[in-house]
Amino acid sequence: MKMAKRSPIWHPFTQHALQQDMTKVLRGEGAYLYTKDGRRLIDAISSWWVVTHGHCHPRIVNAIREQAGKLNQIIFAGYTHEPAEQVATELLKVTSPALEHVFFSDSGSTSVEVALKMALGYWYNTGRQRTQIVVMQHSYHGDTIGAMSVGSRGVFNAAYGALMFEVTSIPFPARDREQIALDALENACRNQHPAAFIVEPLILGAGGMLMYSPSVLREMKRICEAFDVLFIADEVMTGWGRTGSLFACEQADITPDIACYSKGLTAGALPLAVTLCRADIFDAHYSEDRRRTFFHSSSYTANPVACAAAKANLDLWQDQDYRRRVASLAKMQERALAPFCDDSRFANVRRTGTVTALELNTSDAGYLADIGPKLLAFFQSRNLLLRPLGNTIYVMPPYCVTAADLDEIYAAIRDAADLLM
Ligand code: PMP
Repeated sequence: MKMAKRSPIWHPFTQHALQQDMTKVLRGEGAYLYTKDGRRLIDAISSWWVVTHGHCHPRIVNAIREQAGKLNQIIFAGYTHEPAEQVATELLKVTSPALEHVFFSDSGSTSVEVALKMALGYWYNTGRQRTQIVVMQHSYHGDTIGAMSVGSRGVFNAAYGALMFEVTSIPFPARDREQIALDALENACRNQHPAAFIVEPLILGAGGMLMYSPSVLREMKRICEAFDVLFIADEVMTGWGRTGSLFACEQADITPDIACYSKGLTAGALPLAVTLCRADIFDAHYSEDRRRTFFHSSSYTANPVACAAAKANLDLWQDQDYRRRVASLAKMQERALAPFCDDSRFANVRRTGTVTALELNTSDAGYLADIGPKLLAFFQSRNLLLRPLGNTIYVMPPYCVTAADLDEIYAAIRDAADLLM
């Protein structure tokens, strides 16, 4: 194929043969992005699901400014700092009391790697060699090798199979397959004595915005508990209000043994992630014998500026009525979605909290569905940052989005079906 122009920058999840001109963004404010060519875009997917309170929220920007002038990096082994301590303290206040320790890293993928290493370290250090991990079909946990290994196998990682470790996969608990999925989990736990089960609670994000019920999530936790299998909740996407509660696990009234948070942790301002765990998992790594040390770090672990942004985010959740804001966005989304339920061009119209998804009834489905690039181009022409997963269109805006913005987003979705179906 002849390439018109080769980009010096290699963009992620981008086929450069199909998309050569990247939209250059100069500025973000609230739910909007302002481009070099003078357009205003509505950010309908919170810039890869991270910008919860809108772009450049003044309180977060100020916190970053202030911290950047004081201390912007420090080795985190043997040293600590106030922003990290404040984030840990505040996080432990808003999560379950059973989660007692916070490990910092810098992306959702690394928070998952940390969770897996914590789980295996726990079994290893307590003299029980459990190594198998149980996962859910269609899951996505990141693009590093370990995170890919526990994610769904397919087009995203077909080239790297040789590097990925074996896992046990249970079916996705679609409404008519809930018991099948639960039985599969129970069998895996009973027969294989796995180290852990890792799951995205309530919504499987990159796997297609697949949604399942809190009662299934609760039952999955019960099964893991019954067989002493560690339950890892990957709340990288579902955390920070997305599903209607601060964390998705709250809706099932469960406490994970290990939990991963990122994305909305800094409200999308800077890269940061945390992995929280129970005291006995920390304790399994605690001894005079240094061989039990948790040998994991990255240079920027608990970067003070990123921690200051996270602290500002935690403060926002504390002193502004974000829970109400999230509830009202959920209602607005429900209303906007209603007309699509009777439209035969759409299938599986669904919503959990502030996230909606609908599938275009096309002949091919999945991430590589032919319609994907056409939809992307159409939404760009309508000044929307709306990036479907193949034939699945989803809307996950910042919480400051207005009803008028949502009208514009859903009108474009309807027009896309008129034009392309
Ligand atoms: N887990 C989940 C559930 C995610 O949605 C993502 C990112 N989409 C990740 C992990 C990986 O996060 P990151 O891209 O920050 O590495």
